[in-house]
Amino acid sequence: MELRKDPITRSWVIVADDLEKPAPAGYCPFCPGSPNAPQVIASMSAGDSGAGPVMAMVHPAPLYRIEGEPHRRAEGIYDAMNTVGAHEVVVQSVRHDIELWQSSDAEIAQFLSLAAQRIHDLKRDIRFKYVTLFKNYGSAAGQEFSHPVSEITATTFVPRRVLYELRASRDYYYDKERCVFCDTLNQELRNPVRIVETHGNYVSLCPFASRLPYEIWIMPRRHEASFERAIGSKTVQLHDLAALIRHTLQRVMSVAEAFHMVLHTAPNTYQKSNILQYWKTVDEDYHWHIEILPILATRPKPYFLKEVYYTSIASEAAAERLRKLETR
Ligand SMILES: [Zn+2]
Ligand SMILES: [Zn+2]
Ligand SMILES: [Zn+2]
Repeated sequence: MELRKDPITRSWVIVADDLEKPAPAGYCPFCPGSPNAPQVIASMSAGDSGAGPVMAMVHPAPLYRIEGEPHRRAEGIYDAMNTVGAHEVVVQSVRHDIELWQSSDAEIAQFLSLAAQRIHDLKRDIRFKYVTLFKNYGSAAGQEFSHPVSEITATTFVPRRVLYELRASRDYYYDKERCVFCDTLNQELRNPVRIVETHGNYVSLCPFASRLPYEIWIMPRRHEASFERAIGSKTVQLHDLAALIRHTLQRVMSVAEAFHMVLHTAPNTYQKSNILQYWKTVDEDYHWHIEILPILATRPKPYFLKEVYYTSIASEAAAERLRKLETR
């Protein structure tokens, strides 16, 4: 496998050399006592919260491998590098049939803590420029395992969409000396037509220019660029965030059959190199958030092929419908 960079859009593409993946074994690799369980990297046992243990494991078929150097190289005008990185699975429950939105707030809080701890640890490795957490639920979203899991990847590059956000946030900050996410949130809260729910410091909303019907973002009201730093701090109200994630996913599951959920957090600024210079205002200009992209049973027009998104429902109408849905 190798990574190739599109010289025009600057996005990195993983080019695999295997035509088909190995057939999955009969046992679920993530259920307790599985004979083909992957290596456990970290775990958080049930505390006094009453929640079960959560575990981070090596992905059974990783896209990125931890050994070696990226060995970034030119092929004429092109860029390529090795698929060095990390690919982990976060097993959020020992139970095979309990999804994230069916878990208790204590369990979700524990899952968030372990994810934050893993992101923090991976960022100590200065080869990695970006670390993120994501979850694909449902076959339409490319769900890989039937067990309730999320994934963490650490990459030697910043993914394109995040890079766009980082650059745009930095430009906005240079212009106004304010965080674009804080400004957006303040405006949305003043006239809350696109707000779905607020829970303590956390807000869920349908973004003004949603790319898909019922797209939802979850963000903290208090400015913080880094998710893992926020979660690791003593003052954080983790249960508020857990409750908001649980409610938001319950709402999403009422309107969609599948979804992608992805965490957008600050890039790795442990690097003391030019990268640090490059993102020197990131703590002020960027603001962590979780993006949820639902996939509806009736697929909208595949207009995205033209790189212009088409959504069949405006975010105000989407927020109104999502607000009215019952949560448990
Ligand atoms: Zn299982
Ligand atoms: Zn902010
Ligand atoms: Zn984002």
